[in-house]
Amino acid sequence: MGSEGQDESGELSSMGVTRRRNKVETVKEMNAVRSPLGSPRKAVLELWGSVKHQLVEFSALPAHLRDNNYILGHYRVDWSVKRALFSIFEMHNETFNVWTHLVGFLLFLGLTIYTATHLPNIVEPNTLHRWHSGIMESLPSYLHLPEALSSCVPGTFDGTRCVQRPITRWPFFVFLAGAMFCLLASAICHLFSCLSATAFYALMRIDYAGISTLIAASFYPPVYYSFMCNPVLCKMYLGLITTMGIGTILASLLPIFQTSEYRAFRASLFFTMGVSGIIPCVHKVLLYQDEPIAYKTLYMEIAMGVMYGLGALIYATRIPERWRPGTFDIIGNSHQVFHILVVAGAYTHYQGGLLYLKWRDATSCSMS
Ligand SMILES: [Zn+2]
Repeated sequence: MGSEGQDESGELSSMGVTRRRNKVETVKEMNAVRSPLGSPRKAVLELWGSVKHQLVEFSALPAHLRDNNYILGHYRVDWSVKRALFSIFEMHNETFNVWTHLVGFLLFLGLTIYTATHLPNIVEPNTLHRWHSGIMESLPSYLHLPEALSSCVPGTFDGTRCVQRPITRWPFFVFLAGAMFCLLASAICHLFSCLSATAFYALMRIDYAGISTLIAASFYPPVYYSFMCNPVLCKMYLGLITTMGIGTILASLLPIFQTSEYRAFRASLFFTMGVSGIIPCVHKVLLYQDEPIAYKTLYMEIAMGVMYGLGALIYATRIPERWRPGTFDIIGNSHQVFHILVVAGAYTHYQGGLLYLKWRDATSCSMS
């Protein structure tokens, strides 16, 4: 038995050597063929990475990503931060959602720089010197909101001071900052929402906070410049929208806010905040019935409202992808149209804001 065992053991050990040899050769082949740069572990990781970072169908999605069942494919799920970041240059169903708002952010960044540096060019030549000094004086005031709010008193613009400097710019820059925050938050949210369920919910909260910020910030130029000669009204409207905006932003940051049970509540909160803008718009026209600028700015506000409203309608009805599921996965779906209409609406509001500045710089309170 002993010798048999020895023979057996010798045979086994010889088989073991052969197996080890084969394993070593296989590993060498793996290194040579599958991973020219590293170890077999790296080859396995590379293989796993390429499988993990493949685009998947709607049916393979985890619950948190099952939002639009008319977008059938090209989803990213559980991607790494690095891969998600570089996927901005690849085709998947979030590519154009990211770019539509990233381009919008860059547009508003450019408009902010342009507004701060070239605004004097849009008024009559004899007022150019007033614009320049006024912008320089008003720039620091954006950083001190309470002080800036106190400038809502017409006394600030009384007498000679009123005609010696242009109207403060801070409400206009509040709007520009709100638009940039909303668009950038949205682009980041769409790019990285594929990381994990935790990241998805956290980014959704920031996205909703961005929408609330844009809506609230959009009130500042029309309300301030319409009612700056009526400090009580000015402070009342700004106080109300600021309170509503802060309340909605805080609600947006609560985890419960993004659950499906609160979908209708969420939509109604944004809708109410946006639609409440009708009140100061109508009020402005009643106050300045004889001034064409009141109607011009109103038309701009209506155009903006139509764009936002149409965007919300397309977003809610999921047109056109509901007509041909799977056809608009990459480009042309409702979310992208909604994004473009948001940028167009915000740009219309920017143009309306310029009209307000031109109006108030030319007339101020004493002449209105
Ligand atoms: Zn979006």
